[in-house]
Amino acid sequence: MDKEYVGFAALPNQLHRKSIKKGFDFTLMVAGESGLGKSTLINSLFLTNLYEDRQLPEASARLTQTLTIERRGVEIEEGGIKVKLTLVDTPGFGDSVDCSDCWLPVVRFIEEQFEQYLRDESGLNRKNIQDSRVHCCLYFISPFGRGLRPLDVAFLRAVHEKVNIIPVIGKADALMPREAQALKQKIRDQLKEEEINIYQFPDCDSDEDEDFKRQDAEMKESIPFAVVGSCEVVRDIGSRPVRGRRYSWGTVEVENPHHCDFLNLRRMLVQTHLQDLKEVTHDLLYEGYRARCLQSLARPGARDRASRSKLSRRSTAEIPLPCCPCCPWPRRRS
Ligand code: GDP
Repeated sequence: MDKEYVGFAALPNQLHRKSIKKGFDFTLMVAGESGLGKSTLINSLFLTNLYEDRQLPEASARLTQTLTIERRGVEIEEGGIKVKLTLVDTPGFGDSVDCSDCWLPVVRFIEEQFEQYLRDESGLNRKNIQDSRVHCCLYFISPFGRGLRPLDVAFLRAVHEKVNIIPVIGKADALMPREAQALKQKIRDQLKEEEINIYQFPDCDSDEDEDFKRQDAEMKESIPFAVVGSCEVVRDIGSRPVRGRRYSWGTVEVENPHHCDFLNLRRMLVQTHLQDLKEVTHDLLYEGYRARCLQSLARPGARDRASRSKLSRRSTAEIPLPCCPCCPWPRRRS
């Protein structure tokens, strides 16, 4: 019998075609101190200029600046697949003299997206839910310090159960390869000590080809990714135009794996792990939020506590009571 007639064999193709047609929604958050190269890296990653209209505050204004959340959208296409990317930026993070609790707006923002999704999922039109949940947070760490600072630890602790964190060392051209390795090790140790969960790369399937397995292992070893960003195209490497940063002592190439981990980060975000980041957000992080919500509603007195909660801005009376602890559908009124 002709292979074409075996229905299941065509399933991956069918799903693939359906996904291509539909496209992907993906929300990426960038956080970290100002000046660590976040905007430059995003522009380099997606070959776009997402920050054309950005206005940088004066140094004096930064002393009292509070954190704001900004959303920008862009459509990118990779290998014929469209991704509707929403970028969530957090300007003002760590800029103020008093940074205590400055991460609260971020936590609130992430929870609000979960809350919106829960509300939509419990509503009538569940088919066309717009997924605005944050699927990944690139957290920028300074290359000039000796690891994570207290503010980094506080921020990561506050969000690690709500979003997939990918730690990134910005402006890695400030480090010698040996220094970069030492800083990476220090950060990995601190994350372990502080019990901060970052995004766990899934194990590679045993039937993957050797090349893929090698790339996957390399990628896992390079966390936190030490990256260099640049939108400038320099042409002094032979005759080939490359994006890089030119110095009197030579040129740092953004896409050269011997110079930084940019390619590894780009590959994982755009090509290999986009879907997994979405799945972990839905299956683990959102489910955790949903379970906490339902538990708090099921406990007597929880309504009062929830409405007093610092993070919950919406009245809990608006949240429909679940019909049982394991489903989101509202209880029928008798
Ligand atoms: P943001 O405030 O974190 O968004 O940082 P920007 O992307 O605006 O970068 C701040 C400054 O650092 C700009 O002058 C950039 O040209 C420069 N910059 C960005 N990325 C790098 C990098 O990887 N290495 C170096 N040396 N400078 C960078």
